[in-house]
Amino acid sequence: MKENQPTIFEISKPGRFALDLGKGDVPACDLETLVPAHLLRAKPAELPEVSQPDLMRHYTALSTRNFGVDSGFYPLGSCTMKYNPKVNEDVCRYPGFTDLHPLQDPESAQGALELLYNMAQHLAELAGMDAVTLQPAAGAHGELTGLKIIKAYHRSRGETRTKVIVPDSAHGTNPATATVCGLETVGVKSAGDGLVCLEALKAAAGPDTAALMLTNPNTLGLFEKNIREIAEIIHDAGGLLYYDGANMNAIMGLARPGDMGFDVVHLNLHKTFATPHGGGGPGSGPVGVKKPLIPFLPVPVPSFDGQKYGLDYDRPSSIGRIHSFYGNFGVIVRAYAYIRAMGPEGLRQVSEDAVLNANYCLSRLREDYHAPFAGNCLHECVLTARNQKPFGVKALDIAKRLLDYGYHPPTIYFPLIVEEALMIEPTETESKETLDGFIRAMREIAAEAGTDAARILSAPHSTVAGRLDETAAARKPVVRWKP
Ligand SMILES: *Cc1c(COP(=O)(O)O)cnc(C)c1O
Repeated sequence: MKENQPTIFEISKPGRFALDLGKGDVPACDLETLVPAHLLRAKPAELPEVSQPDLMRHYTALSTRNFGVDSGFYPLGSCTMKYNPKVNEDVCRYPGFTDLHPLQDPESAQGALELLYNMAQHLAELAGMDAVTLQPAAGAHGELTGLKIIKAYHRSRGETRTKVIVPDSAHGTNPATATVCGLETVGVKSAGDGLVCLEALKAAAGPDTAALMLTNPNTLGLFEKNIREIAEIIHDAGGLLYYDGANMNAIMGLARPGDMGFDVVHLNLHKTFATPHGGGGPGSGPVGVKKPLIPFLPVPVPSFDGQKYGLDYDRPSSIGRIHSFYGNFGVIVRAYAYIRAMGPEGLRQVSEDAVLNANYCLSRLREDYHAPFAGNCLHECVLTARNQKPFGVKALDIAKRLLDYGYHPPTIYFPLIVEEALMIEPTETESKETLDGFIRAMREIAAEAGTDAARILSAPHSTVAGRLDETAAARKPVVRWKP
């Protein structure tokens, strides 16, 4: 890999081209009569001019600079970076899907509407909900949709409830969503065992409680075993329970948020249901609700009258539209293909294997890395760099050193309540050999902290770029090349 890959403009030579289209046999049209003169370029655009092999080599070289789940192990906690079966990509590229126009008559898009309708049913079944909207484009967007629904519900009952309770282990999107919805976040502390402190929750819940936002298993990879009591406390106060479904990979076919007492759920199709993500690419965050909340779902809702599939817009209590057209359709198709291919048994196996893999990592790394919580985990485990800190080695340094071993680092410094956190989510798609390789690398780094900390502190050594100035990258990003 070249350290300083020139840009496509730098390798450009006047007169070169990648493809010669030849002379067209269509009579040349008079551009000036088609396009008003003031909209025409005065001189041709300065596009790079390169031969086809140079073009191919340039972009192929760039493509290998990305790290993806297809190129290596990617144990980024809370993100469920699982391998995505390629058959899902084939299915979502069927011309029957790609050639549809979102504005065409529902009569002529029955297959696509049936897929949307069935998908909503499958997700409702998995989450224990009564209805699902597929419109939201991501988990955070699902949270926004869910809180809007919850607000509309309270308003319909003549109640003004302004507070959202969020545990201190929660993902940052939870309090952010509450703020965007004009609600106030009330934090509750976790107890020493990493679970929601019931006493703190009781003290926080009251007549102004709109909702509790919770993920289960929580972001420490621990199952909130007091979920029934938690639900009772919130429901007794007149509030609703919102389930952040980012950790659904731990419990599919084993437990359902609806049965735990949750009223609203979002699922991250791009995490749990084998849809490529990372790099901010399209996602999907369907939201499921219990019966009393169905009237408030966003429009349109896919419908079926026993004969024909359609789109229902006639919903007077709806919160309205939250996405153009019908959600991120291609993502929904991929996830649908995955669910159908796995089946109920397969999905349960996914969760069981994800939990097994995480516990394998936890138990084999416990000797070298401090584990802040006793006992087993669910689909991800949290360790810390406490044992390495005396040598000056922090979680960030361990993450950087892992790059030299060819692994994507785990999530670090999240959850916020664990000092020097390293959060590992191996997912179910990895073999024992892959996990053993990662564990070996982690243990070598732990040993190296005692013998050659400087080598860790100056890592990575094998990547195109070494340590970056992360503050400058965030504060003064240079995103445009200039000659
Ligand atoms: C990823 C994640 C979210 C947000 O989901 P996006 O799809 O990234 O918007 C919310 N909560 C938790 C716990 C997450 O891991």
